[in-house]
Amino acid sequence: MTGVAHQKWWGWGVEGVAFNHRDKPKMAPFVYDKVGIDLNAPGSPPPNFDDLDVPAPRIGEELTGTLTAAVGREHVRDDDLERVIHTYGKGLPDLVRVRAGDLPRVPDVVVYPADESQVQAVVDAVVAADAVLIPFGGGSNISGSLTPPADEQRTVVSLDLGRMNRVLEVDEEAGLARIQAGVQGPDMEDQLNSRGWTVGHQPDSFRHSTLGGWIATRSSGMQSDKYGDIADITRGLRMVQPGKVVVLRPLPSTSTGPSVREMILGSEGRLGVVTEAWVHVHRLPENRDIIAYLYPSWDAALAAMQEISVSDAAPTVTRVSDANETQFSLSTQKESAGLKGKAQQALFDVLARRGWDLEQACLSYIGYEGGAGKVKAEKNVVGRIVRRHGGIKLGRGPGALYDQKKFDTPYIRDFLLDIGGLADVSETAAPWSKLPEVYMATTRAAREAFERIGVRGFIMCHLSHSYHSGACLYFTFAFAPGVDGAQEQLERYWTVKKAIQQTFVDLGATLSHHHGVGTDHAHWLEEDISPAGTDVMVSLLQGVDPGRNLNPGTII
Ligand code: FAD
Repeated sequence: MTGVAHQKWWGWGVEGVAFNHRDKPKMAPFVYDKVGIDLNAPGSPPPNFDDLDVPAPRIGEELTGTLTAAVGREHVRDDDLERVIHTYGKGLPDLVRVRAGDLPRVPDVVVYPADESQVQAVVDAVVAADAVLIPFGGGSNISGSLTPPADEQRTVVSLDLGRMNRVLEVDEEAGLARIQAGVQGPDMEDQLNSRGWTVGHQPDSFRHSTLGGWIATRSSGMQSDKYGDIADITRGLRMVQPGKVVVLRPLPSTSTGPSVREMILGSEGRLGVVTEAWVHVHRLPENRDIIAYLYPSWDAALAAMQEISVSDAAPTVTRVSDANETQFSLSTQKESAGLKGKAQQALFDVLARRGWDLEQACLSYIGYEGGAGKVKAEKNVVGRIVRRHGGIKLGRGPGALYDQKKFDTPYIRDFLLDIGGLADVSETAAPWSKLPEVYMATTRAAREAFERIGVRGFIMCHLSHSYHSGACLYFTFAFAPGVDGAQEQLERYWTVKKAIQQTFVDLGATLSHHHGVGTDHAHWLEEDISPAGTDVMVSLLQGVDPGRNLNPGTII
């Protein structure tokens, strides 16, 4: 036994936890109205693992022997379940393919090192054997960055860092912690919280993703407005490469450029294996509050968010949903939760009398942390901005509910998939000056794509992660594909996804704000960073890994 817990091979999260709409009476009518999917239709049961046709491992005795000597027999696994779990991430195409048993190339073996010297031994053995090494964190990526190329003839070794999961030391004076790369979000925070510290990095995938994965994909968390993206949080690290270790000491800043730290951030296993990192840690906040607000329109909401981003308030979370996402959120309310029943109706009646078109209302969450005085002052600043843009404060209740439920939403996608619906996300970042246009053009492109493939589709969006010069727009789209075969479904999916991604780069927005490049976004890399930029990237990857032994399918 390796002692490392994994997600379901066929879906998000752990066995036994699933989304259920039955206590949310408005959801089924809403979904049926928007995309024609009947949530009460019988879903298909989880696929049966024994029905999969898993190709046999292709690994020679010599490499097996070296890997076994490196990490111990019980930490070298070649059973089918282990290998399938390590084949895909959790993107929509990953889930459709794995559920359909589409397994053209599966890692041949999975190894679980206990420390950096074992990682070094594995990396060196893999390169000496001219095999392929793919680092594995939580397997939660949604950019296709774990799957071996279908035509890879060499042995593929998945290196799972799950046993390297300890907070090694905290430099309390500097506010830095040295942490092993394989630790998952909750475990890391438990270890730190018990000593009064937090990293504060909370991607929606927090429960099933790792520090090394966050670094390798340039992740962002919902509180990144305060704590920074992982690229800001990570101050130093160690990365194992063939025959050597890159050692970057934790520094508050440095002018040693070009920055190797920045090159490693987002490298998706192409430059080596991150074994540990020095990250910013903060004292657990005295107070923590998420307050909900409502704006009369998306334009008003965007203008307010921009003003908040340059105001004296420094919130931890800045998030606002467009009208579609707001309507969807309202439809997922439990009968007895949040802004509800008569009180909610009374409020909406008042707003309607004031001239609001409630179909256009946009729900926002702003997070505050710190001493009571600071939090109060920031709420006052934000409150004034909200009012100036015609918005109102809804209060703490819906904010607290959002905070409790935020890690449950990923389960909705599997539930939809069970009853034949496809849902996925695309996210980008752009300057404030371009955000309204990126938003309009993207929603239009998705609607046109739905029309081209002849389906009723739905697209919704929220703004999150505000910066000085712009923000992230996060789109979620869903539709019933109207065809059964996995390949046909994915063809329709890609028509929509490509239309959205192409719109991003056409309008000067980035191909992804925090999901990385992987294989799914690689098509737009050149448009994102220019052909000369791609040349720089190719030189870097070839220089470090001339034999293409390190996760060769991803990025370029
Ligand atoms: P994996 O998926 O295991 O690996 C991702 C890539 O990193 C692979 O290329 C792998 O080879 C490489 N890698 C992993 N560990 C190492 C290492 N130690 N050294 C070198 N390379 C390594 N992302 C966000 O940023 N914010 C979000 O809010 C967010 N929400 C999500 C919600 C859902 C439902 C899902 C499915 C995904 C979400 N993601 C989000 C995407 C995903 O969780 C991130 O990309 C995450 O950083 C991946 O971490 P992981 O440990 O799961 O890495």
